[in-house]
Amino acid sequence: MQQGPEHITLITPDAPIAIPTHGGRAKCLQRLVRLDLPVPRTVALSFDAVRWIADGEVPDMASLLDPFGDMALLCVRPSSEDPDWGGPGAVLNIGMNDASYVDLSDRIGKPAAARLYLRFVQSYAVHVARADPDMFDTLDEDPVKAVGQALSAYEDEVEEEFPQDAKVQLLGVLRSMARAWQGTTARLLRQAKGAPADAGLGLVVQEMALGLGEGECGSGVMQLVDSVTGDRRCTGRYLSQSQGREALKAANEALYLQKDPRGPSLEELAPEAFARLKQCTKLMREKLREEMQAEFTIENGEVYLLDGVRVARNARAAVAIAVSLAEDGIIPREEALMRIEPRALNELLHRQIDPEVKRDVLAKGIAASPGAATGKIVFSAEEAQAADSRGEAAILVRRETSPEDIRGMHAAAGVLTERGGITSHAAVIGRGIGTPCVVGASAITFHIKQKRLTFPDGRSLKSGDQITIDGTSGEVLAGEPRLLEAARDEAFKTLMSWADDVRDIEVRANADTQADAELALTFKAQGIGLCRTEHMFVEPSRLVAMREMIFADTSEDRASALEVLLPMQRADFIDLFRIMSGMPVCIRLFDPPLHEYLPADREGIRELADALDLPVADVTERVESLGEYNPMLGMRGVRLGIAVPEIYEMQARAIFEATVAASKEGDPVVPEIMIPLVSAMREVELVRQNVDNVADAVRRETGRNFTYRLGVMVETPRAALRAAEIAPLVSFLSFGTNDLTQMTYGLSRDDAGRFMSHYVQQGVYPEDPFHVLDVDGVGELLEIGARRGREVAPDLTLSICGEHGGNPESIAFCRTAGFDYVSCSPFRVPVARLAAAQLAV
Ligand code: PEP
Ligand code: MG
Repeated sequence: MQQGPEHITLITPDAPIAIPTHGGRAKCLQRLVRLDLPVPRTVALSFDAVRWIADGEVPDMASLLDPFGDMALLCVRPSSEDPDWGGPGAVLNIGMNDASYVDLSDRIGKPAAARLYLRFVQSYAVHVARADPDMFDTLDEDPVKAVGQALSAYEDEVEEEFPQDAKVQLLGVLRSMARAWQGTTARLLRQAKGAPADAGLGLVVQEMALGLGEGECGSGVMQLVDSVTGDRRCTGRYLSQSQGREALKAANEALYLQKDPRGPSLEELAPEAFARLKQCTKLMREKLREEMQAEFTIENGEVYLLDGVRVARNARAAVAIAVSLAEDGIIPREEALMRIEPRALNELLHRQIDPEVKRDVLAKGIAASPGAATGKIVFSAEEAQAADSRGEAAILVRRETSPEDIRGMHAAAGVLTERGGITSHAAVIGRGIGTPCVVGASAITFHIKQKRLTFPDGRSLKSGDQITIDGTSGEVLAGEPRLLEAARDEAFKTLMSWADDVRDIEVRANADTQADAELALTFKAQGIGLCRTEHMFVEPSRLVAMREMIFADTSEDRASALEVLLPMQRADFIDLFRIMSGMPVCIRLFDPPLHEYLPADREGIRELADALDLPVADVTERVESLGEYNPMLGMRGVRLGIAVPEIYEMQARAIFEATVAASKEGDPVVPEIMIPLVSAMREVELVRQNVDNVADAVRRETGRNFTYRLGVMVETPRAALRAAEIAPLVSFLSFGTNDLTQMTYGLSRDDAGRFMSHYVQQGVYPEDPFHVLDVDGVGELLEIGARRGREVAPDLTLSICGEHGGNPESIAFCRTAGFDYVSCSPFRVPVARLAAAQLAV
């Protein structure tokens, strides 16, 4: 085996140790040594050395053992490149044999020495000799007797004497740990955490600080921050006469560190050791620029630091830690921003299942709107509302949702659907209003009529039973696991304000209602990038008005339906302008996919006939005549505006009248009007002409002047390709990547959920393209559209308002393509703000 200081190295301040060659633990220990902290002597073995040992080579035992005194006991711990990749468990007390047992008995007493020997014999037997741990089940409780029994049990089982030579013991331990790392299960586990197939393992051999013996001896861990809340407080445990992480395992007997009303503490027992330890942990934070957990041993009152590991933390604590490190001047603000994974903010914005609890997973669907919710199963929007009015949490279960369900979705704690993908109705609305949502859970059998769900393992739940959904993972769980509350605390707000200081792409919100707009402001969106006006008609009375308009087959009928809608729309827009006070509001003209507004069953038809005061037969006939084979490609968006111009004219009038009304009270409002589903320049010309005419009429009628910005939603491949002829007619292009993805792939956004998992699992698509922007295909259309548009109209505002607008990778793409802003559901705005900031750092 090649030897040399780079492979077997005593850790000194300037030894050649690096993370890519020796692993994170070795490097961290070197940093602690450099800080002159009381770290026991440690030798690091490189990845190469460990690989050779696994292959059967023998390292130079002299250079390995010389740094330690003759009678030293040793421990070996793993040192992988990333601590998350795991590694074999530590082995302690190497070097214990009959001679050191006698010697130690004199120093620390026989029972303590016996415990050390016993512990080593057991772990050597299991980890190195691969013996069955059960063979030690019948040992005496007295450690002195138990040692003798354990040694003979070892001899019987392994058929050789327990090795007495420290070199043999150490080599055995090193080899077993090196080989454990190469095992298939270990490799698969770490690869699942992102480790490359050839990830190396380093090992550190450290002199033991015993933790057992005369005076105050023991071991424990200390950290200066709470792992769940991020609050600054000294936490951890200490156990007298113990080693390793025993203090954490025996939490009942262990002491608190700082004085604590719940029980005795190390601070009271050994104040000097406590103070020293706290000082060491604080120094680690400052110099390692990270919140660290100190693993320590106290030997006769003396403190030893065995290791420092990054404090485990959930997202809320991660934000608090990053902000406090930056506020204390330990790291720059930019680094604090970079330390938080944008998606992790979802954990702060929504309730989460406590990561500590065991999950009883019934089935998995598509994670459509993050957060966890527990409640009684209900099968209709009405039941969800009724439960809400009784103050009960409900999970609304539907095959799929439609506009009639929106009020129920507001009332429900969570939504579960059988069908649909990431851009289905339930998913889009769920994200918009922040209701946790799992869609496309097709593994569950939905017996809607019998009000029952059957799960793949045969279990079954009925209406009224408790269920939990996790919209962050897509899991459906039994019962009521403990939930952690959302935490938009001061640290979160501070981090967000730093993000806003550095980012160079704007973030708006998709917001349809007053409540959405208020939410958008809470999350500091810089305006509304998409107001889907058809979503303003979800209340039962309004839905009827909307349907009357859709159902009207004479121009008189339509005119009277529109007359009902006009004042509603005007009032809606006045509210939006007021709430957003001067910020841009981009209103999309109606794009009601007709199938979402037509009743699907007999009962629905009868109700509609009642509401419209028409015979059932007439309604049935009309529903049939309005039915489309492929509604996604049917009478949608601007096609409605061209075929029935009065509808868009009514909306334009409502927008302009609201503009005049809202401008009287404050700064002039400049509304943005967006035309959906455009595929041809002529569509834009026609709509523009009509909208201009309405603007002129309102100017005349009110005697007030105003301006507005007209834009096109690029949602069809043709609109992207023909951007050069569309751009001169408009002020902005906003890419609606939900429909653009649907049309580029020829993939129905409502149905793709049924087979998407097969496609992703088999690598046909790397990701669900409705979830993560397909930069190769759809992205190319975005680039083409942006480039061709800007070539003829350099001032053209460019944006994205599909669901991808809240996705960090898609935001990166849009920023590179020169977009001015992204727009996403209000609850995704913070994620987008942080993701955008990270791009600018
Ligand atoms: C889109 O298609 O990307 C879009 C934002 O519009 P909608 O989801 O309402 O079709
Ligand atoms: Mg669309």
